[in-house]
Amino acid sequence: METYDLIIIGTGAGGGTLLHKLKDTGKKILVLERGGFLPREKANWDSKEVFQNERYHTKEIWKTKEGKDLHPGTGYWVGGNTKVYGAALFRLRERDFEEIRHEGGISPAWPLTYADFEPYYTAAEKLYWVHGKMGIDPTEPFRTEDYSYPPISHEPRIQELHDALVKDGHQPFNMPVAIKLIESDMLNSPCIRCNTCDGYPCMIHAKSDADINCVRPSLANENITLLINAKVERLITSTDGHTIDHIEVSYNNELIQFKSAIVVVACGAINSAALLLKSANEQHPDGLANSSGQVGRNFMKHNSAAMLGISLKENPTKFQKTLAVNDYYFGDKDFPYPMGHIQLLGKSDREQVSPDAPFFTPGIILSEMASHSVDWWFTGEDLPDPNNRVEVIDGQIHLDYTENNMKGFDRLIETWKEVLAKIDGRYVFVPHGIYLSKDIPLAGVAHQVGTAKFGTDPATSVLDIHCKAHDVDNLYVVDGSFFPSIGAVNPSLTIIANALRVGDHLIEKLSSL
Ligand SMILES: Cc1cc2nc3c(=O)[nH]c(=O)nc-3n(C[C@H](O)[C@H](O)[C@H](O)COP(=O)(O)OP(=O)(O)OC[C@H]3O[C@@H](n4cnc5c(N)ncnc54)[C@H](O)[C@@H]3O)c2cc1C
Repeated sequence: METYDLIIIGTGAGGGTLLHKLKDTGKKILVLERGGFLPREKANWDSKEVFQNERYHTKEIWKTKEGKDLHPGTGYWVGGNTKVYGAALFRLRERDFEEIRHEGGISPAWPLTYADFEPYYTAAEKLYWVHGKMGIDPTEPFRTEDYSYPPISHEPRIQELHDALVKDGHQPFNMPVAIKLIESDMLNSPCIRCNTCDGYPCMIHAKSDADINCVRPSLANENITLLINAKVERLITSTDGHTIDHIEVSYNNELIQFKSAIVVVACGAINSAALLLKSANEQHPDGLANSSGQVGRNFMKHNSAAMLGISLKENPTKFQKTLAVNDYYFGDKDFPYPMGHIQLLGKSDREQVSPDAPFFTPGIILSEMASHSVDWWFTGEDLPDPNNRVEVIDGQIHLDYTENNMKGFDRLIETWKEVLAKIDGRYVFVPHGIYLSKDIPLAGVAHQVGTAKFGTDPATSVLDIHCKAHDVDNLYVVDGSFFPSIGAVNPSLTIIANALRVGDHLIEKLSSL
């Protein structure tokens, strides 16, 4: 059995970033990733392949609480879900770290404050080339420095909307986005500002993802070993149950084992919880590190919706993910509770719009819908509920989820429809994308977090403030699982910043090995 100083399981926003942080420690690090490298191929930018045929999603089937099949909108690749993400990288607001009363209940406080995360947010934005501008987002938390990369400009149709919103008293701002765009020198810019970014893999590797920005640069170091198509099946503890003794991995149709002084689970919030639950043993009968009973519980994924705003005006925008609005983040004058966040999606095309319309809709109408739509994405905070949980039954993932805190979110969408109709002429709104599908309502697990929350009390949390399991001395979970609440902005920058934060702790720990 080969022995390492540290094993990282999973290479997404959490695992990939942590690897990059630890790569120069000189310690012997093994990285295990169940997927392979996402192929560079023309299909990367083929809407039908990406959205209708779900080419880059797993074929794995999970179950809903009603026992129905669930086809999750998630992929297993080096880089995890950052391979297809929209790269909108936001900081949580200062108040998101504190207890906030929502119309639907309480969003709990984190055990750390925004100030604890601030230096790591700054480092995360640099590592992922986030473009933005300080001082234009009305709910922005304090920053010690401006972004290192300038904000991404709006194309004319979006600029027109921006100006109309400002005239109406709103405060739209340039969305922080992690792409390798050099607008001042397009001849040498890696990013070509195309319309196949949000939801697509980047064929020319110009989107900042965990694979390109973190994993590949780390592989040059001799102390790093990456094994792809290596799925971790179980973590096996020592006989007293206090440490992980070794791990079992499916690789090339065999079950192989590795030993390591420290083990980091970074499989994404659902799969990390599933791995801990599958690793139950005599010392940990309810799942590994689960004396609190919280592993798999408090699963959150955002209240989210996508909407085509179809107007009489044409929208020839190519790179549309440039504008966001936080004016209603904490409520409005008649609703003193948080409502949520609004941002533009990548520009939809005929293939993306087709599942939103009745099957008999002629192709020409689909093309007209797409060419006249501005495409919006809304997120509101779903509150942590212990009954919203991941379970593993007969080896299969079951997701039990009941939506909550919808009033503010519904109000956000209705308000936005009124605003657009007022400032921009006549509109038709059409729900858009798999997120609103009636058949597989849980499939949109893109923003999964919260299944192994961190905290100071081992009775009510799974991880301590360094994301080490309270119950197991050498086990860490470094991905979206640690969130005690989700806030309403996209989660990845916080996952990345946290990996850098835990990385500092692990560097210290590794130095004493
Ligand atoms: C279409 C889409 C758009 C998105 N857009 C945005 C956005 O604009 N902004 C934003 O902030 N977020 C966005 N997200 C969400 C973002 O991708 C996730 O927040 C982020 O990737 C989560 O990081 P993670 O490390 O928790 O998990 P992941 O990135 O999912 O990484 C988990 C890794 O673990 C591996 N793994 C799982 N199980 C095992 C196992 N048993 N053994 C070995 N390896 C395993 C997986 O293959 C994967 O590589 C989007 C997601 C999707 C799907």
